[in-house]
Amino acid sequence: MEIKSVLQQNEFRFNKKFGQNFISDTNLLEAIVCDAGVTKDDVVIEIGAGAGSLTYALAQKAKRVIAFEIDFNLKSVLKTTLQGLNNAEVIFGDVMDKPIDEIESLAGGSFKVVANLPYYITTPVLMRFVEESANMSSMTVMVQKEVADRLVAKAGGKDYGRITVAVDCFGDAKLMRNVSRQMFYPQPNVDSAVVRIDRNKKYSVDEKLLRQVVKSAFAMRRKVFSTCLAAGLGISKEQATRYITSLGKDAQVRGETFTTQDFVNLTNLIAADGK
Ligand code: SAM
Repeated sequence: MEIKSVLQQNEFRFNKKFGQNFISDTNLLEAIVCDAGVTKDDVVIEIGAGAGSLTYALAQKAKRVIAFEIDFNLKSVLKTTLQGLNNAEVIFGDVMDKPIDEIESLAGGSFKVVANLPYYITTPVLMRFVEESANMSSMTVMVQKEVADRLVAKAGGKDYGRITVAVDCFGDAKLMRNVSRQMFYPQPNVDSAVVRIDRNKKYSVDEKLLRQVVKSAFAMRRKVFSTCLAAGLGISKEQATRYITSLGKDAQVRGETFTTQDFVNLTNLIAADGK
């Protein structure tokens, strides 16, 4: 499918604010579908159908594909590129406005998310799906290389942050492939990468409190964790230090050295103390 000519025939004008960088390379599209491990049993949710090239590739392997697209000007393009497919549908509108339970009932059970994400909403989309969707089994996404580095970072490293921990609470993130900026049309200013996150973890923890604890850990990178935790939870520095040291950590430790399990242990300790 030559999407460039379909876009031209339909006099489509790219809208920069929607992060429209399309893929047309068949090998790359097939590689992404393969990275996601899509089979005939899978319902796939795609975020941002664009010209439909990934939607089409997904529909060749999946049971059903439900794609969201914010730009109504892509309607005629998608009508052409998805013509003849009876297992793909496009829902026009902002995916961020669609309640997760509605997305789950559209999917009708377990689903996989596969997307070449619009860069301007990468973090909110990732956070929302991993934190809110109980029915999502995996998420395979094309993101900016720098975001990919953050998703797969290890505790203590420079790329390790709030999003690393939020995603790690859900499951393991794997870097599947690096993708040159030259593979997109129009070409963005940065390279990208495909990351797959499989749901394979479930911590027994007060999730709201955990989010508060993790948020505090990365709020002031140059300060010791006890200071950040005290500020984040509105407790005394002495109390925060007591929690941290009773986990066997040094009083001067920094939050970014904590693994997900450390954050969970700390949260459970605080919760048990009735905070
Ligand atoms: N999947 C296509 C591909 O790989 O060629 C397009 C990917 S492009 C990076 C991202 C797409 O997401 C664009 O078509 C854009 O219009 C759409 N988009 C941006 N924000 C959106 C939102 N909030 N909800 C749904 N779609 C959105």
